[in-house]
Amino acid sequence: MEKLTKITLSILLAVAIIVFTSRLTTPREIDDITPGIPCEQKYIDKSDILWVIPKFQGIPISENQTWCKEILNLNKTLGLHGLLHYYHEFSDPKEQAHIDEGAKIFKDCFGYKPTIFKAPNLALLKDNKILLFKNNLSYQTKLDQSIHKVYHCNNSGTFPNWFHNIW
Ligand SMILES: [Zn+2]
Repeated sequence: MEKLTKITLSILLAVAIIVFTSRLTTPREIDDITPGIPCEQKYIDKSDILWVIPKFQGIPISENQTWCKEILNLNKTLGLHGLLHYYHEFSDPKEQAHIDEGAKIFKDCFGYKPTIFKAPNLALLKDNKILLFKNNLSYQTKLDQSIHKVYHCNNSGTFPNWFHNIW
């Protein structure tokens, strides 16, 4: 085998091993937690971080306090996952009011303000990153998404939920 090919293959193998090991050890997550989206309990149970959509289809989660208590009682880390969660919601410039609304609904539901944020489809404009930073919200990146096992409610992820049990 050509030397360059060998080096390239070694690097690819090393990266694959690093990603695989990271995904085994980093906290598991689940995206798209909200009352309006069906979600398999077994994947919620497997996850350490639940990414919550505060106002899916225009309905604030805080209106469903029974649901809020149920989610809170799971004792998981909860993060803010957009506001309405439409495609590329955070690819367009957002006003402070957009963040405020999501954070308020989240707080009215769970009793505390969110500290972590994940953009729908991970699409995040640079100006919005600055806005999140000003609001003390740390955001998840595409790299974060690839080194964590991330399930999706309604099995709507790029990879099906079962896939994350293998890789
Ligand atoms: Zn999502």
